[in-house]
Amino acid sequence: MLSLQEIIDKVAEQTGLNNAEIQKKVEEKKVELSGLISSEGAAHLVARDLNVDILKRVIHRLEIKNVVPGMRNAEIAARVFRVFPVREFERNGAKGRVANVVLWDPTGTIRVSLWNDEIKVLETLKEGDVVKVTGYSKEDNRGEPELRLGNRGKIEKIEMDFPAIADAAIERGQDDAGKLREGATTKIRGAIVQMFESDPFYEICPQCGIRVRSNDNKFFCDEHQYVTPDYSMVLSGVIDDGTMSIRAVFFRDTAERLLGMGVKDALQIARDKMNKTAPITENATKLLGKEMVFAGRVKRNSMFDRLEFIVSGLNDVNAIEESNKILVSLGD
Ligand SMILES: [Zn+2]
Repeated sequence: MLSLQEIIDKVAEQTGLNNAEIQKKVEEKKVELSGLISSEGAAHLVARDLNVDILKRVIHRLEIKNVVPGMRNAEIAARVFRVFPVREFERNGAKGRVANVVLWDPTGTIRVSLWNDEIKVLETLKEGDVVKVTGYSKEDNRGEPELRLGNRGKIEKIEMDFPAIADAAIERGQDDAGKLREGATTKIRGAIVQMFESDPFYEICPQCGIRVRSNDNKFFCDEHQYVTPDYSMVLSGVIDDGTMSIRAVFFRDTAERLLGMGVKDALQIARDKMNKTAPITENATKLLGKEMVFAGRVKRNSMFDRLEFIVSGLNDVNAIEESNKILVSLGD
């Protein structure tokens, strides 16, 4: 709460009236309201009558990457990236509700926790909306900053030109605990930290492209019977995004893109070196540690009972960042 003198100072600052003039208006306001109001309350009304915004605070609008835990007044503009279902909990015998919303801007994502009555705003928000959030930041249980509204904070939909959630979105299809969800179609921005050096080649039917069964060096397609096979590739490795790692599998086109060569060239290298894993070994230094965005699907490998990421597309991060910078500058 501001004191009477603080309110008077702010009114003086914004109107040019002097202290005595404002004091007089405050007294008049009290008389007008039959003395049923405090001096501070009357001063608020005087300020309002004079169009003085005494609650105006200096707030710098932040990019998400610059939000750190412990900020008392933070304001961001962002797109609603994901809305998680409301969860109910009980603490010290009292029931409460919490819902998390993930917001996106071109610099990153951040979680906003909404508690109890604050959740009501979700009725008016959907994914993709542009919102303004004011509040404070706090460290969450994973050591990341999260936003809370508190008494003075607010999340509201605004009309504003804002970059679209492009391919560069750090979209992870996570559950509430930050783990990848089985079945999620998502993107991971990360790097390959390990490549498995196993025979990448397998035989496919030249007519329908389906993997053929082999028997005594003969190859059989259910539909096309005995065929002289073509070859395709499958590669696997481990992707790490700095917070988690997952085994990733690259089939066919994505394997060729990852390796930077077609299956024919890869076969040629394998023949020349008389080693089927040579195309992987020779490219490993180029592949490892290179940051990319991998699009794909999280699938359970039932044989090993683990989640794997079946990659369906990959992109160089640098190219994406360039296009994002252009988007951002166009948004100004
Ligand atoms: Zn076939």
